[in-house]
Amino acid sequence: MTVPLLPKIYGKPAPHWRLSKGDVSHALAIERFGPRLTRRVLWRVETQERTVALSFDDGPHPHFTPAILDLLERYNIPATFFLIGRHVLKYPLLAQRIAARRHEIGNHTFNHRILPLLRDEEVQSEIHQTEEAIRIHTGRQPRFIRPPMGLFTKRTVNMIEACGYGTVIGDVYPRDPHLPGQHKIYQRVMRRVRPGSIIILHDGGNTKHVDRSQTVWAVEKIIEALLRDEYRFVTISELAQGLGSV
Ligand SMILES: [Zn+2]
Repeated sequence: MTVPLLPKIYGKPAPHWRLSKGDVSHALAIERFGPRLTRRVLWRVETQERTVALSFDDGPHPHFTPAILDLLERYNIPATFFLIGRHVLKYPLLAQRIAARRHEIGNHTFNHRILPLLRDEEVQSEIHQTEEAIRIHTGRQPRFIRPPMGLFTKRTVNMIEACGYGTVIGDVYPRDPHLPGQHKIYQRVMRRVRPGSIIILHDGGNTKHVDRSQTVWAVEKIIEALLRDEYRFVTISELAQGLGSV
């Protein structure tokens, strides 16, 4: 069997998106994006105010999601969790715990498959099954999808929008799943964060053995440092609604 190639991806990166070494498995995807497509994807919000959104992908995870939630509760700050549908079915109480606070829940698809490689009906099913799981277990209707691996094409963005969602990536990604070390995760975030940033981190994973202890350590330091710098934490919806935008 031949391995399918990634479909043709459009254009150039958005002007505010600078690829640098530490940034991104989604480099793969955005390298050749056109501005018209990238404008339909939320990377960050243009603002002078010190607002920032923390986001966590791939949960819920039985060990690391509670650790992250405890931290967020201790500092009384909201975050956005992009949940994998099949993990919601496995850990519905954790999804409920997220929803019981003022955290936002986003859709990260059901099986964490690369959307551009799927047929239309598979993309729709990935989105709808997750939406259903989130609705049944939390009563929430997510507004945003973060495509797995940050990979998208014009077709999948069209489909995401047709399902009633916005596509969100983020502008600060310290590559925490690669386990670069807790200090590195912290430093990479602090080097890149600016007003209106969306920070991408991981409380869960798509493989059997997931270790997010570096992320948990770094998140506490990131929160403390940003609070010292007088940043205000908001959800991605709040950021997108222009709370604090110019
Ligand atoms: Zn993911």
